[in-house]
Amino acid sequence: MSESKTFPGDRIASIEEYEAGRNTFDDGSDVRAAVIGTAEIDKKQRLAHVNYPGDVSIPKVGDLVIGTVAAVMGSMIAVSIDYINGKQKNSHVECICSTRNLRKRTVALVNDTVCLRIISHLNGTIHAGIKEPQLGVLFTKCVKCGEKVIQMRDAVKCTGCSWIDDRKLSTDFGNSDFIKLSVE
Ligand SMILES: [Zn+2]
Repeated sequence: MSESKTFPGDRIASIEEYEAGRNTFDDGSDVRAAVIGTAEIDKKQRLAHVNYPGDVSIPKVGDLVIGTVAAVMGSMIAVSIDYINGKQKNSHVECICSTRNLRKRTVALVNDTVCLRIISHLNGTIHAGIKEPQLGVLFTKCVKCGEKVIQMRDAVKCTGCSWIDDRKLSTDFGNSDFIKLSVE
C-alpha cells in the first residue's frame, strides 16, 4: 500500500491497472481524485481510493441527487448537493448541470430545490443532467414576492401576486415527500 496527498483531478492510477474506488472517478483512461485527501492503492482488490478526513460523499454516475441551486451561469446551474439517493449529506459537494437545449427561458433559479441525475465526472467536476421527467425543480417560491407557487402546466404561478414564471419542473414538483424519492 502506498499513500500520497491528492488534489481534485490528480491522477492516481491507470484504469488498466486499477478501478475507481472511494472519492475518485474514472475519466476514461485514469483514476483521478475527486477530493483533497490521501491516495490509497489497494493492490489486492485492484482499487484506487482517496481517503478524506471528513468522509465527503461523492455521488457516482447514475445517482439521483437533490440539492439547492447555488448559482445560475448562462446555460449552466451550479447545485449544492443535499441528498444522494435519498440520503442526507452534509458535505454539500457541488455539481454543475447544463441547461442548454431545454427550450426553457428559465430552467431553475438560485435557491430552488432541484432533482438531478449524475451523468459524468470530468476534470474534477461533477456533471448532472436535468432532462428526464422526474428531474427538475421540486420546490421554488415566487421571485417577485416570495409567496408559494402552484404548477400551471409546465410553469409556476404565484398564489400571492399571480406572477407566472418558467421552470423545468420535476414530475415530483409539489410532492412534499420528495426527500424520500425511491431510486430505481
Ligand atoms: Zn408573487
